[in-house]
Amino acid sequence: MASSAPVIQVALPRPLRRTFDYAPPQDGGIPEPGVRVRVPFGRNNVVGLVVGVIDSSPHELKTATQAIDDTPLVPADLVELARWLARYYHHPIGDVVKTLMPVSARRGARAAPIDAIAWTPTGYRDEADGLLCRAPKQRVLFERLCELGAVADADVAGLGINRQALKALLAKGLLERKVLLPPYSTRTSDIDPTRAQSEAVAAIARSLGRGTTHVLEGVTGSGKTEVYLRVIDEVLRSGRQALVLVPEIALTPQTTARFVERFGAAATLHSGMTDPQRFDTWLKCRNGMHKVLIGTRSAVLTPFADLGVIVVDEEHDGSFKQQEGLRYSARDVAVKRGQMLSVPVVLGSATPSLETLENARRGRYVHLRLPHRVAGSSMPAYRVVDIRGERLEGGISRHLRRAIRDHLAAGNQVLAFINRRGYAPVLLCSSCAWQAQCDHCDVKLTYHRHPRQLRCHHCDRRRPVPRECPSCGSRDLALVGAGTQRAEEFLAAWHPEVPLYRIDRDTTRSARRLTADLAAIAKGNPAILVGTQMLAKGHHLPNVTLVAVLDADSGFLSPDYRAPERTAQLIVQVAGRAGRGARPGEVWIQTFDPDNGNLRALIESGYPGFAQSERLRREAALMPPFASLALVRADSAHEGAGLALLQEAADEVGSEAVEILGPAPAPIARRADRYRSQLLLLARRRGDLHRALDRLEAAEPRAKTVRWSIDVDPLDTS
Ligand code: ADP
Ligand code: ZN
Ligand code: ZN
Repeated sequence: MASSAPVIQVALPRPLRRTFDYAPPQDGGIPEPGVRVRVPFGRNNVVGLVVGVIDSSPHELKTATQAIDDTPLVPADLVELARWLARYYHHPIGDVVKTLMPVSARRGARAAPIDAIAWTPTGYRDEADGLLCRAPKQRVLFERLCELGAVADADVAGLGINRQALKALLAKGLLERKVLLPPYSTRTSDIDPTRAQSEAVAAIARSLGRGTTHVLEGVTGSGKTEVYLRVIDEVLRSGRQALVLVPEIALTPQTTARFVERFGAAATLHSGMTDPQRFDTWLKCRNGMHKVLIGTRSAVLTPFADLGVIVVDEEHDGSFKQQEGLRYSARDVAVKRGQMLSVPVVLGSATPSLETLENARRGRYVHLRLPHRVAGSSMPAYRVVDIRGERLEGGISRHLRRAIRDHLAAGNQVLAFINRRGYAPVLLCSSCAWQAQCDHCDVKLTYHRHPRQLRCHHCDRRRPVPRECPSCGSRDLALVGAGTQRAEEFLAAWHPEVPLYRIDRDTTRSARRLTADLAAIAKGNPAILVGTQMLAKGHHLPNVTLVAVLDADSGFLSPDYRAPERTAQLIVQVAGRAGRGARPGEVWIQTFDPDNGNLRALIESGYPGFAQSERLRREAALMPPFASLALVRADSAHEGAGLALLQEAADEVGSEAVEILGPAPAPIARRADRYRSQLLLLARRRGDLHRALDRLEAAEPRAKTVRWSIDVDPLDTS
């Protein structure tokens, strides 16, 4: 029997591409969007989220068992965002809702009522006459609320106000429920802003209350953080909240410390937290108790009582893209959220992504620049070292060894950057050319010295190091290439008098160790730092005067279309660690390919010059930001099964406006014993791409043993 009474649309935390209609629970009214409900589903009773209320449903309806919340746990703007995420990323709405809510919330844990919530008239007062001409009691109530300005929820009963009438006014859009934030007391900063900083702050402050996106392109050490702090200060004064997204919290404790110092407190949200901690922070943001939230990727999905600004620091960073499940870009979601909430978004970086630069060029984003470092420090000088025919020790050429020695002797710190952990990437038999391979993935094993073993960096399996070649029995096994451990071993033996800190994923499993290392480095005595891209992330290392990029080539030569951009960003970021103090810095770049066009552009005209030439290349090749891209991935324990399913998908989505590449095996065709394949969709107009993906979603191809997923705007095509 179809129903014509109000019907609630419920998203269930399952990988389902649709919502389910239910009749509202028998006791009480109609749950609003954002309220959790228990509903019968199959043989179970599950917790779902109301995402819509409609007038009637063509389906036969079951009745929801119970509403868990009196007021929406998930605010209306976030429900709307969830719907947008499902559409844009072509991801099951059930799984979007699951991603959005902490585990405790999904299990139905009660949320304490919001004490500070109040009923306030919206900006639509002019419409009241028309909407209330047949509801005299609501009209009287509305006028009373307009006089009072706001009524705290806790006072509703005491003032003799009828709750149903309040809800009716809410439904008509004349009232809203707002959390009233307690007043904010500010601390003044003793930093005198530069002119560029003041102008940037003023431009962003002018757009408060509007959904403008700003790109803050500031060279490393130009004082971007100071701009964020000043903007946030303004936002807090106006009684609203601020969200700051950062690539990684554990790696940059200094950043959090600056926010805490300035605002008295700043909450953090990151992957190292337990679920109850996460839920607690989540609720406090929603209830307005936390004024400032600093968080990694997923923090962009936090509910806020009254958000006033979103900052995305290091907006180019790949960690903002989720690589599994709901494959969202926290940066892009931040921009969307800013538009939905009419609050400004600040995308800060010394090396903005090409998409962001293109959006600025087309006038969609406001481009703000901090072109100089703050008083006292100059930009480092680059120097390319041709290592063809050179004998490297620990991956380091003779010239560079001399430079390292000189900088250390002058009492400075030296940073050696190599984006490869382990000791050597290849173990090779010199007699028959056998190479150590993972049995479960199509990749080579990396030789590690501490502890001594072969490791797969893709499935994390470990194997003992063979004494002789398993293929020909020769004992002549060679280690080819260098990773962080090899550079560390060489440098430590060569300069035993200087403390050495290796910073890569193998040494920084504990955040405490990293914090201790950074504190020791901050003391400023001569030291050697060896590390991967972790060293490129925003650290302020004022005593580093020499940055050595040991291998610039592997990044530039990778076949991925984004590899040059990523490599240039990495080099500029790690170079930016040099000379941030009073002493000027140098950056040495070792390469077998000194004439590489990308490298030349970067050295000769800096990141903006590189970005310009890379932009032309992308335009010619019709790659993003000049086209929209989606990747459909499949994997299966059976070779060929994924390819067959993707062929079916390709037949389904085909259209003239969408170019289809593949299906083909993925660049790493087997990983942890699963065969991987992919299909690339490319369209000049985003709308065409979305329509093709809609067709794919509707067709929902299926095959036993095959898992498949859609990745819109993929970052990594391997
Ligand atoms: P970025 O984020 O652009 O790399 P930071 O904001 O970390 O740069 O600033 C680098 C250093 O300069 C910090 O120690 C900061 O306190 C200091 N700083 C920022 N702005 C100013 C200023 N206007 N005058 C003096 N020092 C400043
Ligand atoms: Zn051999
Ligand atoms: Zn493996």
